[in-house]
Amino acid sequence: MTAPPPLSIIILGGGTAGWMAANLFAHHWPQASVTLVESPEVGIIGVGEGSTPQLRAFFRALGMAEADWMPRCNATYKAGIRFNRWSEVPGFGSYYHPFATEVDFRTQPQFVYNCRARRTGRDVPAHPDRFFLPRLLSDERRSPVAGEGFPLDVGYGYHFDAHLVGQVLKDHALTMGVTRLERHVTDVEVGEGGDIAALNTREGERIAGDLFIDCSGFRATLMQEALGERFISFADNLFNDRAVAMPTPRDPAGIKPQTEATALSAGWRWSIPLTNRTGNGYVYSSRYIDKDAAETELRTELGLLDSEVEARHLSMKVGRVERSWVGNCLAVGLSQGFIEPLEATALHIVQATVEGFIGAFEGGGFSPEHRDAFNDRIARRYDGIRDYIVCHYRVSRRTDTAYWRDNAANDALSDNLKTMMTAWFRGMDLDAVIAELGIAGYYASASWHCLLAGYGVFPDAARLVPPGDDVVRHDLGEVDEFLRRCALNFGDHDAALAAMGAG
Ligand SMILES: Cc1cc2nc3c(=O)[nH]c(=O)nc-3n(C[C@H](O)[C@H](O)[C@H](O)COP(=O)(O)OP(=O)(O)OC[C@H]3O[C@@H](n4cnc5c(N)ncnc54)[C@H](O)[C@@H]3O)c2cc1C
Repeated sequence: MTAPPPLSIIILGGGTAGWMAANLFAHHWPQASVTLVESPEVGIIGVGEGSTPQLRAFFRALGMAEADWMPRCNATYKAGIRFNRWSEVPGFGSYYHPFATEVDFRTQPQFVYNCRARRTGRDVPAHPDRFFLPRLLSDERRSPVAGEGFPLDVGYGYHFDAHLVGQVLKDHALTMGVTRLERHVTDVEVGEGGDIAALNTREGERIAGDLFIDCSGFRATLMQEALGERFISFADNLFNDRAVAMPTPRDPAGIKPQTEATALSAGWRWSIPLTNRTGNGYVYSSRYIDKDAAETELRTELGLLDSEVEARHLSMKVGRVERSWVGNCLAVGLSQGFIEPLEATALHIVQATVEGFIGAFEGGGFSPEHRDAFNDRIARRYDGIRDYIVCHYRVSRRTDTAYWRDNAANDALSDNLKTMMTAWFRGMDLDAVIAELGIAGYYASASWHCLLAGYGVFPDAARLVPPGDDVVRHDLGEVDEFLRRCALNFGDHDAALAAMGAG
C-alpha cells in the first residue's frame, strides 16, 4: 500500500543537504508543495567536496547528465582514495581504497585469498594496490568512465565545489516547483502532541506545514534545539573535532581521479582535485594540537608558509541524533549527525536518509512501526560507517605522536568492530563474519580487506614463511596484465573533463 505524501513539506536550510532533500522530495512526490527556507545571515558550511559513487545515482534519478552539472561545479571524477603515511610498516606506507567495480570482482578473490594466507603467516603478496583497477586508473590519470563497448561496470564518485553544487541543485529544484524563502527562523512552534506546527521568522512570517525537514546544519534548530532529541557523541571513538582548509593551484601535471588522505601529526589532510584548484584541509583533534599549530603544519605541507592564502577554520560535532525521524520532523545532513570526512560519506547518508524516509512514509505514513524501523536502519548505517572509520585509526600502525599512539590504544570500540578485528587477527574467514554481522551494506569485504591489508596488519615480515603446497599461488603477473588491458579502455581524465566543457 502507498500512503499519500504530506501536502506541504517545509525544509529549513539551504546547504547541500537542504537542496538535495528539496530535489528528492519534489522528484518523488510531485503532488506535494515543497518550501525551502534559508537564512540571509547564516551561511552554509561550504566544505564537502568529495562523494561516494552513490551520488551518481542521485543525479541520474533526477535526470541530470554529467555534462549539465559537472562543468558548472568545477567537478572531477573520483575512483577512490589514496591513504598516505598512515602506516610505518615497510612496504605499506601508502595504499589505495578503490570504489567497487565489476572488473575488480574478478581479482578480489585472489586478493582476499592472499590476505588470509598472509594473515596466517605465509609470505605471499597482499598489498591492495596490486589487485584493483581504480588504483591503476588514478596513477595513469585516466577517467573512470569506460570507453564505449567496455562490458563491465565501473563505480565512481565525484569531487566538486560545494557552493557551486548547491547553486546547481537550487536551480534544478526551482524548475521542479520548489519555493525558496530567504528568511531567518527565530522560533519554532511545537504543538501539544510534540509535532512541529510552524516556524516563525524574523521577517514576521509564520510558516506552517505538515512535515518539517531539519537541514539547518550543526545548529540542528528543529531536531535538537526545538525537539530536544538526544545527540550521541562519537568523541570517544573518533578524536578529530576541527579542520582547517585552504586551496592550492590545480596540479599542472594533470588531475588524478582520486582523493588523497595523508596522515599528519594529529590527524590527516585531504587533497581534492577540482578543475580550477585543489582543495586541502587538515582534520585534527584539538586535544592534541591547537589551531595555529595545525594551520602552520598544513601550510608547511603545502609549501604555503609565506603565502597570503587565507585559511578557513571549522569545528565539527561528531556523532548522531538518536532518532533521525521524530513526530513530523526529519533531520537530514549535519543536523542529523556527522562522521568525520575521512571516507566522504556525509552526502551518501543525506541521500540514504531522504530516500529511506520516502520509502518508509509511503509504507505507513506517520505510523510508529515504519518510523521506528527507519530510525533503526539509519542509526545502524551511521554506526556501521563509524566503525570502519574508527578501524583506520585503531590499526594505523603509526607511532610517532601521542595522537597516533592513543588512537592505536583506544578501546572504545563497538562489539562489531571488535569482532571484525578479532576475526582478522585469528585468520578467520572475514567474508563470513561480515555476512553474519550484516554490515556489508556499509562497507563490503573489499573495503575491509583493503584497509587492514593496506596498513600491513599482518604478522611481522620476519615471521612469515614461504607458502607450502597447501597454499594456492596466484599468478600476479596475470592480474597485472588483466588490469593493464582493462585500463586501456579508459581515456585521459583531463581530456574527458575538457570534452564536457570543464577544466
Ligand atoms: C571539514 C569537513 C569536511 C567535509 N568533507 C565532506 C566530504 O568530503 N564529503 C561529504 O559528503 N561531506 C563532507 N562534509 C560534510 C558536508 O559539508 C555536509 O554534510 C554538507 O555540506 C551538508 O551540510 P548541511 O546542508 O547539513 O549544513 P549547512 O551547509 O551548514 O547548511 C545549513 C543551512 O541552514 C540554514 N539555517 C541555519 N539556521 C537557520 C535559521 N535560523 N533560519 C534559516 N535558515 C537557517 C543556513 O542558512 C544554511 O542554508 C564535510 C564537513 C566538514 C566539516
